[in-house]
Amino acid sequence: MSNLDYLKSEHHEFLDAAAEAMADDRLQGILGQLNDSFSQRNRDAWNAFPGSDQAREQARAIKDETLAELDKHLETLERSVMEGGGTVHWAADGEEACDAVLKIARSANAQRVVKSKSMTSEEIHLNQALETAGIETVETDLGEYILQVAGHRPSHIVAPAVHLSATDVASVLSTVSETPLANNRKELTAFARRKLRQSFAAADIGITGVNFAIAETGSIVLISNEGNARLTTSLPRIHIAIMGMEKVIPRLQDLPYFLKVLARAATGQKQSVYASIVTGARRAEEIDGPEEFHLIILDNGRSRILQGPLRESLFCIRCGACLNACPIYRNVGGHAYGGVYAGPIGAVITPLYDGLSENHHLPHASSLCGACQAACPVKIAIPDLLIKLREQLHQEPGQLGFFETAAYRFWARALRSPFAYRIGTWLATRTLGRWKRRSGWLQRLPGKLHGWTQKRDFPAPAPNRFRDWWKHEGRNEP
Ligand code: SF4
Repeated sequence: MSNLDYLKSEHHEFLDAAAEAMADDRLQGILGQLNDSFSQRNRDAWNAFPGSDQAREQARAIKDETLAELDKHLETLERSVMEGGGTVHWAADGEEACDAVLKIARSANAQRVVKSKSMTSEEIHLNQALETAGIETVETDLGEYILQVAGHRPSHIVAPAVHLSATDVASVLSTVSETPLANNRKELTAFARRKLRQSFAAADIGITGVNFAIAETGSIVLISNEGNARLTTSLPRIHIAIMGMEKVIPRLQDLPYFLKVLARAATGQKQSVYASIVTGARRAEEIDGPEEFHLIILDNGRSRILQGPLRESLFCIRCGACLNACPIYRNVGGHAYGGVYAGPIGAVITPLYDGLSENHHLPHASSLCGACQAACPVKIAIPDLLIKLREQLHQEPGQLGFFETAAYRFWARALRSPFAYRIGTWLATRTLGRWKRRSGWLQRLPGKLHGWTQKRDFPAPAPNRFRDWWKHEGRNEP
């Protein structure tokens, strides 16, 4: 296995991390193969689904309608969960959410936790909080389990260990097996299953995320392909579900629209293998299920985002399709983005959750080609959101240097004054238009502008301005 240590640390300098990822031949080989197959499956799934556009529009409309009255739907959800015998905990941030989990664990004297895949628990760094409190925590999604053993962060929303080959996985899992494991997917899966069954049987608490929470019934919906979420919610005596507050949907009848689009966008399947609807704890007449059900509803900046111009980012159903479609993600992988969420949607929400200036490269980590929006099952206008973030970023003090600030001010003024515009275009055609031109492209711009031509040529301005051409020739042309 090549040196994967850099996958363990959180990078906040996107450019350095991206350069590192681009230089990793092993990673490049994996990304090339996997993302092509993901994208192709995603396209095939949409093409084979005649009502896809309608279903996507409907899912989007439900999200929009829900967010318009989010407080009302969350209150209904709380009421329904309590009527079903569950307990609701409100968490303003990650710390409060972790504290709520630890409080439940302590009052139940819990020693062992199993978890099914949850990006929200990654967002709040729950595993670290549990381990610091001395509670043994085991990830039970196969990809997450591999990452936990390796000490890596997830690199994809739905395929967290996508950056590892089967050889890498054999090498990682061999560190916890008695004998070295071969590079054989079936054997590796069987080994993980054996290990995880023991953890399920011994666990006091099962922690899951929430794909959707249905306000009218107080149910949570879990979508998976491995079945581990079902064991997590049914074997341990306590079930804790953690959701971002935007995961609520008003009615049970809204769910099919999301089920139709989520699986197709995520993995190209018509349906995921398991869609579990869990309502509260075990009832008196039931033979299995947890004794307690707790739902933690996390804000962590979402109510602020809801009020602002990037509200649409809350439509996200975490399918990962925008990652597979994005030419940047396909080249640099997930770890370069630094935060928990990678790819185009990560470039939008990581700065919103973790701070814009701390993640100032992310809004620029996009070619704005629109592939993400085309792939998104709820048609989030990600390029527009990235542009809005860039605007916000440039308004923050200290983000633009003296030269850039002066240049943009001058440009803005010139564009507002016809006289200045005329002079500017005259100067541009007489300097850049004639300077080092070869086949209509400039290979190197001077001074502070050289960054524009570091990686690509710059289109040279025409040697004559349109207004001159029009004056002398254009108007006489038929
Ligand atoms: S932004 Fe859209 S495509 Fe990307 S993860 Fe969210 S729902 Fe999926």
